[in-house]
Formats: sequence, C-alpha cells, structure tokens
Amino acid sequence: MYTASLQALVDQLGRLPGIGPKSAQRLAFHILKVAPEDAVRLADAIVAVKNNTTLCGRCFNVAEGDLCTICRDPRRDGAVVCVVEDPRDIVAVEKTQEFRGRYHVLHGSLNPIEGVGPDQLKIKELLARLDDEGISEIILCTNPNLEGEATAMYLARTLKSRDVAVTRIASGLPVGGDLEYADELTLGRALEGRRQVEA
Ligand SMILES: [Zn+2]
Repeated sequence: MYTASLQALVDQLGRLPGIGPKSAQRLAFHILKVAPEDAVRLADAIVAVKNNTTLCGRCFNVAEGDLCTICRDPRRDGAVVCVVEDPRDIVAVEKTQEFRGRYHVLHGSLNPIEGVGPDQLKIKELLARLDDEGISEIILCTNPNLEGEATAMYLARTLKSRDVAVTRIASGLPVGGDLEYADELTLGRALEGRRQVEA
C-alpha cells in the first residue's frame, strides 16, 4: 500500500503512545507534505533530545549537563523538597506556581506485582540528600492512586527516624488519577493543604 519509507514512518509513528494506525497514517502523510526543512527540524529535535538529555545529578529530573534548570536556580529553596514519581509531575507542580523548593524524582512507584521495589526507585539517593543538603521538609507528591499511596507510606516510614518534616499533598485530587492530569488550581490547593504524615 505504501512505499517502503512511508511504511517505515507509519510503523514508527504507530509505536508512539496514543497514536493508532489512522493517526499514524495521517501524521506520516502530513510529514510527507511539509517543506523539507520542517521535516528535518522534527527529525533533528528527536535526535537532539536523545543525545543531549541526561538526568540531574541531584534530583534526577531531566537535564542537559550536570544539574537541571531548577537545581541550578539560586532562588529555589533547598530546604523543601517535593518528591514526585516522574519528571512530568515536576511540570505539573511548576504550573501551579505554588512551589519554590526543589524536587526529587523517584522514577516510578512501588509496584510489587511488576517487580518494582524500593531498590528500583531513587530512594537511597533521596536519603543521601537529607544528609548533604539541610532539608527540613519532604513533601510526598506521588500520584493519588494505589501505587502512589503505597510509595508515600513507605517513604513516610523510612523517613520517620530522620530529623525532617514529612508531609503529603492534601486529598481532593481525583483518586486513581495521575498528577499530571490534575488541573493547576486543584494541584495548587493540594500542595497548599499538605499535612504532616503519621507513619
Ligand atoms: Zn535537579
């Protein structure tokens, strides 16, 4: 049906999340139609993001270089650290404009069924930061679903013996949902209404 190169493009686009066969075909024909320099810009952006993106040496957010833009910003308050599951969650919290501290990205949540235990998450790294950075509050900002709650409880227990306040974002977020889909106002309120965790 397609030429070999068009078929290859349809196949690759079809592997992206949320892109079905119809959308893949539509996108492929769109790319075929655009000016060559536009197509090259798209291809270059894909290559560049893979070549240039690393993880922040401090918080494990996406970065270019040693530290992410948030960790490099001297105006951020290093005493308060918001713990999230995924770099996308940082984008969600930043949009609320309610938070001026730093982050820590776990890169997942506890999920025994899928074999994700504490050692698969950046938890050791979080504990190491407590000793080095003078952190006074840890805000547990994991997703309001089963795995996110289990992760928050695990962290609360682990941090109990440490000299640090541990808070959890307030309920009010849609249960079972993902942080990144919460609207800014709701997430902002959840942050503002955070409470000390009893572990
Ligand atoms: Zn960082």
